[in-house]
Amino acid sequence: MTRSFNGDRLLVATHNQGKLEEIAALLEPRGVTVVGAAEMALEEPEETGTTFVENARIKAHAAARATGLPALSDDSGIEIDALDGAPGVYTADWAETGAGRDFTMAMTKAHDRLIAADAPQPWSARFCCTLVLAWPDGHDEVFPGVMEGQVVWPMRGDQGHGYDPIFQPEGFDVTFGEMDRWEKNEISHRADAMRKFLGGCFG
Ligand code: IMP
Repeated sequence: MTRSFNGDRLLVATHNQGKLEEIAALLEPRGVTVVGAAEMALEEPEETGTTFVENARIKAHAAARATGLPALSDDSGIEIDALDGAPGVYTADWAETGAGRDFTMAMTKAHDRLIAADAPQPWSARFCCTLVLAWPDGHDEVFPGVMEGQVVWPMRGDQGHGYDPIFQPEGFDVTFGEMDRWEKNEISHRADAMRKFLGGCFG
């Protein structure tokens, strides 16, 4: 059985202000205040896992151990089938330049590899987001979210972030980069995982 969250303060193990605000807004009606990693001066552990679950577990358990509070973390990325699931857990790494992240470069790399592999279209892909809630006693609960779709080229749209301009979700003829933020947040992989988290730990 899923363990419920009964506290009124939840640590979110992220330094990303956007993610923090999105989670805070969802938990506020349930009387839960969200605390960010920066506020607790948490160090970012090395993400040495080879799956989203492993990396989300590393972050959530490190934060729960360090603070004595239940901690929520997420790990996300895009899996492209014709590239054997790459970039997957290395989604952010593909954008690293040494002087910040360059997602145009990362998306171009994905497209170049699809062309080099002579991969037939449609280029099926999915965005994944795994949420992990870890307690200081070592227990955790895992909530995987997914949005199926395809990689398209050229890039389209300037809304959103990351790989949004080359991802067209199933059932839509626009990319995440062409959708307004509200619409994307309703259907995204993160929304899917959040719904499972809310139903599981607050149901
Ligand atoms: P992390 O989960 O913060 O380690 O990073 C995951 C990476 O996946 C981010 O750098 C983004 O580039 C990418 N990513 C995750 N979710 C999305 C999304 O909704 N749109 C575009 N890119 C995303």
